Amino acid sequence: MAIRCWVALGIAMMGPMPVIRAAPPIVIAHRGASAYLPEHTLPAKALAVGQGADFVEQDVVASRDGVPVVLHDIHLDGVSDVAERFPGRARADGRFYCADFTLAELRLLSIVERFHHRDGRQIYPGRFPKDEGRLTLATLEEELRFLAGLSRALGRPVGIYPEIKQPAFHRRHGHDLSRLVLDVLARAGHATRADRCYVQCFDPAEVRRIRHELGWQGNLVQLVGGDAADLVAGDGLARIADVADGLGPALDLVVGPDGRTTDLVARAHAAGLVVHPWTARRDDLPRWAGSFDELMERLGAAGVDGVFTDFPDLAVAWRARQPDDGGGR
Ligand code: CA
Repeated sequence: MAIRCWVALGIAMMGPMPVIRAAPPIVIAHRGASAYLPEHTLPAKALAVGQGADFVEQDVVASRDGVPVVLHDIHLDGVSDVAERFPGRARADGRFYCADFTLAELRLLSIVERFHHRDGRQIYPGRFPKDEGRLTLATLEEELRFLAGLSRALGRPVGIYPEIKQPAFHRRHGHDLSRLVLDVLARAGHATRADRCYVQCFDPAEVRRIRHELGWQGNLVQLVGGDAADLVAGDGLARIADVADGLGPALDLVVGPDGRTTDLVARAHAAGLVVHPWTARRDDLPRWAGSFDELMERLGAAGVDGVFTDFPDLAVAWRARQPDDGGGR
């Protein structure tokens, strides 16, 4: 409660703020309900919505012919049968790049549970079996239409959370990925902070560009990896808050590897930023967390405004048990 009052004070002091803020935290389905079905497939997205996620994440890369598709990496070989279907299309480094395949070619791929591209071992052995399912990849536009349809059928809003992946890489391949994504968002009716949409990116220069050069007026989140703590040191948060509405930090930056809560959330709130850390996983807990619930407990106590999770069902269930779950999302 103290945090909420404090945030209200922050709103009064800082001027306009994103309308999407909530306590207790919003649940963002990381690549869909990716603990249960292959990441970024539409079934994984539908399951996430069915499990009560407030937002569903889309990682976005571009095909060779410049179509934004929903895929976590610039590589295809850890989540698809590209090596069998298109032998000989790897680059010198042995990897298969989405940027080398047209959308028509990408549509021929089976998308499967994530595995080590070198030896085929599943990353999370207890999850959906790698050799099952005939799932496919979706374009960003297809996924947004799918979620909008689901939202209408269910009669409740479903937020989206697209990430611009590796903008510099895409520029080298002749694609302005941010512009491509913003065009799709505009056509889908996402334009202002009132829309349930956060655009996220790791690249600070690109986050500034998205706001200033491309004129994005919706919610914007600066992602910060565990190895980029310098971005949020000193006056870093104030610089981020100049253009962004939120911070998407690695979990370790909120609760350190030693189990101590850092001052990041408090400092981010003081700068006027919401905080949505990543990624809460039952099958890959930080050392200090004995259970998924304990992880959520600690993040909740730290005052985060949202959590990225592979397990939306568990996060929603945890939240439902909180005394102040007022459904204010
Ligand atoms: Ca992401």
